[in-house]
Amino acid sequence: MTETPKTDAAKIRSVGPGVLEIFLPLPSKPSIINVFLVDCGDGRWALVDTGVALDASRQAFAAAIASQGIEAASIEWLLGTHHHPDHFGASESFREQGGRFVHLHPLEVERMQYSFEAAADDMIRHGRRHGMPIPPEVEGSPKPAEIWAGTFRPTTRIDHPLEDGEVLELGRRRLQVIWTPGHTPGHCCFLDLESRILFVGDHLLPKITPHVGVFATGPQNPLGDFLASQEKVAALDVSLVCPAHGAVYSGHRHRARQIIAHHEYRLREASNVIHARPTTAFDAAREIFPWVFEDAEARMQRGAALMETLAHLELLRARGAARAEERDGVVYYRSAA
Ligand SMILES: [Zn+2]
Ligand SMILES: [Zn+2]
Repeated sequence: MTETPKTDAAKIRSVGPGVLEIFLPLPSKPSIINVFLVDCGDGRWALVDTGVALDASRQAFAAAIASQGIEAASIEWLLGTHHHPDHFGASESFREQGGRFVHLHPLEVERMQYSFEAAADDMIRHGRRHGMPIPPEVEGSPKPAEIWAGTFRPTTRIDHPLEDGEVLELGRRRLQVIWTPGHTPGHCCFLDLESRILFVGDHLLPKITPHVGVFATGPQNPLGDFLASQEKVAALDVSLVCPAHGAVYSGHRHRARQIIAHHEYRLREASNVIHARPTTAFDAAREIFPWVFEDAEARMQRGAALMETLAHLELLRARGAARAEERDGVVYYRSAA
């Protein structure tokens, strides 16, 4: 009697008509990314996101598709929701294995080059400008490209730059591109026009909210973009949400409302902090996310907490509820009321 291998079978499952979900390991939290294989007819497949370029991920992917009798070379199209290493890191492997058409939004291409090559020094300047004490020794610390080395092997050639609203005809599938800037400037969701399944990347996760931050360069009000993108997706007719982290679910409107409410709550917190006195984004972050600053283990999240706070302060400013002023090269926010 032969036994069916349990481990691999558990890493791929059907979630809708011709849609397979594959769970791939990540080296840090969240510890799993879900990528999706979409049957486009005639033995051709499209892949939504890739996982990272680590052996463990590649092997898990190979085992998962082999268990369904799918050959790597039959996966013709890659749809990248955004450029982050867990989503686009193995896009070069996709090509090496016979994948032909890579789709990504043009703003992601730009961001990818910037994030991994130039961002480190900018981040130090940016942090100081917003009140973060950064010891001089940090200046020589590893660049993002070095930290992510090994997990990130992006393809440099994008065959199809995505456009908001366009319908991609992939074999017998028709997938509409829904541009959802916020988490990153060129983040896109994909709506299967027949099944109304929506692939959301990091935009509309069931349990966590994605990081939305103001970087040294790039959009000044990404949280405004993100909340508008939540409204945009909430207006769609959707049967099932396929997120990159967490379980598939239905009830996208309810979840979008929760995410909007979460940020409105944080906006009120930020507004209270700057009401008392002019405050740097760093000092506001310490009040809004105290656990990140009290716990030494959470050290690495301090930069993210700062940029997320900055996103809230900048949205308050865009709404006319806050003002920013610069003193000795440091930016202070104060309530406009
Ligand atoms: Zn992401
Ligand atoms: Zn992600």
